[in-house]
Amino acid sequence: MNIILYSERPDLASELVTAGRAIMDICGGALQALTIDDDEQADFLAARGVSVHRVRSDQPSPADVAQLASAVHQTAVALEADMILLASNRRGRELAGRLAQKLGGGCLTDVGRFEVLDGRPAFSRNALGGAVEDVRCMETGKQVIALTPHSFAAAGVATGPGPVSDLPVRLSPSLVRLKETIRKGADAVDIEKADILVVVGQGIENKEDLTKAAQIARSLGAEVACTKPVATDRKWFSEERIIGLSGKRCKPRLALLLGVSGQVQFTVGIRDAGAIVAVNLDEKANIAYVADYLLVGDLKTLLPELVKRFSA
Ligand SMILES: Cc1cc2nc3c(=O)[nH]c(=O)nc-3n(C[C@H](O)[C@H](O)[C@H](O)COP(=O)(O)OP(=O)(O)OC[C@H]3O[C@@H](n4cnc5c(N)ncnc54)[C@H](O)[C@@H]3O)c2cc1C
Repeated sequence: MNIILYSERPDLASELVTAGRAIMDICGGALQALTIDDDEQADFLAARGVSVHRVRSDQPSPADVAQLASAVHQTAVALEADMILLASNRRGRELAGRLAQKLGGGCLTDVGRFEVLDGRPAFSRNALGGAVEDVRCMETGKQVIALTPHSFAAAGVATGPGPVSDLPVRLSPSLVRLKETIRKGADAVDIEKADILVVVGQGIENKEDLTKAAQIARSLGAEVACTKPVATDRKWFSEERIIGLSGKRCKPRLALLLGVSGQVQFTVGIRDAGAIVAVNLDEKANIAYVADYLLVGDLKTLLPELVKRFSA
C-alpha cells in the first residue's frame, strides 16, 4: 500500500502520519507526506520521521481548492499512490471529492477509525447526520480517505528526520483571485483542541445565565462551545463555537452540557467525549441516551449552585 498524506495544517498532518503508519503496519507499503509551497511544514513533518515531498507549484493560489486538487493529483500520480489521506476539515472534505474524481477513485470523508478485514482497511464514518457506517472502497484501486480531526494522536518528533525532496507540478492559471486576507476576530477559538468544554444550549435563556455558564467554564479551565441555534439564531457566539454536523467534532476529556436537548445533528459532534455530563429539565430529553451523567433540574436554580461549587 503506497500512502501519501496532505493537510494544509501541520497539526492535522501529524495526525495523518499516525493514521498512515497504523494502516502501513498492517497492510505494508510506504508512507510519504506532501507539503505545497510550505517549507516550514516540510521541516515539521520531516522531524516526525516521515519522507516529505515539497510540492512546488508554478502558479500558487492558496484560496483555490481546484488548483490544490490538481497539485495533489499530479503528485499522487507521480508517486503511484494507492491511498491519499486527508484531514476531514472543510478544506479537506472539498479536496477529497475533487481528488477522487480526478483519480477515478473511491472517497470517504468523516472517517473516525479503521480496522483491517481480509488484508484491506475498512473504515468507520459518520453517515446520515448521526449513524456510523463501516465501509470499504472495494471497486477502485485508488482511495481518498479524509480523517476526522483528532481521531488519531499527533505524531511526535522522531529520533531521525525523514528525507525531504522537491517535486515540481504544473498548474493552469487559477480562476480565483485572492483579494484580501482578513484575520479571524477576537472570538477565534479552536474548540476541537479543548480538554474540557462547557456547552451552552437553548435551555440557557438569558445573558445573565450565560455569564454564569462562562464563570463555570473559567473555574474548570474549559472553553465555551454551543449548539447551532445559540450561535445562528441568538447570535450569542460566533459559528466557530458550534458543535455538531454543521460545526465541529470535538473529543474533550469532559463535556458539560447546559440545556442541550441532544438532537442527532448535535450529538454527532460530541459523542466521542471522554465523559458527558448534561443538565436538563427533562429527564426524557434525547441527551439522556448519550450522557454519562444527567442532572435533572432547572438551570435557573442550578447555575448559581454550580458557580458556587466550582469556584469553591
Ligand atoms: C441539517 C441540520 C444540521 C444541523 N446541524 C446542527 C449542528 O451542527 N449543531 C447543533 O447543535 N444543531 C444542529 N442542528 C439543529 C438541531 O437539530 C437542534 O435543533 C439543535 O441542536 C437544538 O439545540 P438546543 O439543544 O440548544 O435547543 P433545544 O432543542 O431547544 O433544547 C433545549 C433543551 O434545554 C432544556 N431546557 C429548557 N429550559 C431549561 C432549564 N431552565 N433548565 C434546564 N434545561 C432546560 C430543554 O428540556 C431542552 O432539552 C441542525 C439541524 C439540521 C436540520
